[in-house]
Amino acid sequence: MTKLVETLAEIRKKTAQARGEGRSIGFVPTMGALHDGHTALLHQCRRESNLAVASIFVNPTQFGPGEDFNRYPRTLPEDLERCLQAGIDLVFAPSPAELYPNGLGSTYAEVPNLTTCLEGASRPGHFRGVATVVLKLFLAVTPDRAYFGRKDYQQLLVIRRLVEDLLLPVEVRDHPTVREPDGLAMSSRNRYLSPDQRQKAGVLHHALVQARNAVLGGIHDADRVRQILHQTLESSEGVVVDYAEVADAQTLEPLDRLSERQAIALVAARLGATRLIDNMQLTE
Ligand code: AMP
Repeated sequence: MTKLVETLAEIRKKTAQARGEGRSIGFVPTMGALHDGHTALLHQCRRESNLAVASIFVNPTQFGPGEDFNRYPRTLPEDLERCLQAGIDLVFAPSPAELYPNGLGSTYAEVPNLTTCLEGASRPGHFRGVATVVLKLFLAVTPDRAYFGRKDYQQLLVIRRLVEDLLLPVEVRDHPTVREPDGLAMSSRNRYLSPDQRQKAGVLHHALVQARNAVLGGIHDADRVRQILHQTLESSEGVVVDYAEVADAQTLEPLDRLSERQAIALVAARLGATRLIDNMQLTE
């Protein structure tokens, strides 16, 4: 049976109790509006832990002014049902006041490297909000393992660095991106798309596949691969590219050549008011 927990005091009590009984704790942080991508993480967490915990919290500090905080989909009853089906023991869904008792501008965590480029450049303050809330949630839930999707690749690197730098006793595990049949990465934001935009949104994945095929076909000039990403994305009317980058998969530094270092392509694009991101590894 899945139990909904809304207060810090109760989640602390429940996780401390489990820990006292020698149970291992797995944790999946989410913002809710759960889809099959989240479910894959929930299943992995369930399989690998004695106590499986998910959180549902639309974190105000990771949204910039003018972003979609207010209209972000909130679907708690459906989310709880999904967690129940996945065998999750506890769903921690606190209020903002519970996690930010002194207001949103209080003490924060910042991961300075890795956060100035890509999503960090387009969304100033975003990763500060992410790092801060994940740290708070880790302190509340005390997980042995926490699960993150590769769909938010830069976020995954930021969390790994946060854990390393602050010596947090948590093992970060990642899960491959779960996709729709046409390749579109599942996202809570996909529900903003009109039918026409939804049809066009498949071009993000298509562009990444074109880039990977070019690399497999022997193209090693990163600028040529960037060009392929841009051309493919821009071939779809109404798709506005935010960035299309080829970077070192560990440091996110832009690459010149795709030979020595592990390379990843990362894209962000807007369809109307909806901003979507995706990525794909280009070399092993
Ligand atoms: P969110 O609710 O968007 O904050 O996402 C919660 C977690 O689910 C994050 O670790 C995401 O990377 C992960 N996630 C979201 N969409 C997908 C997807 N399509 N495939 C795999 N993981 C995902």
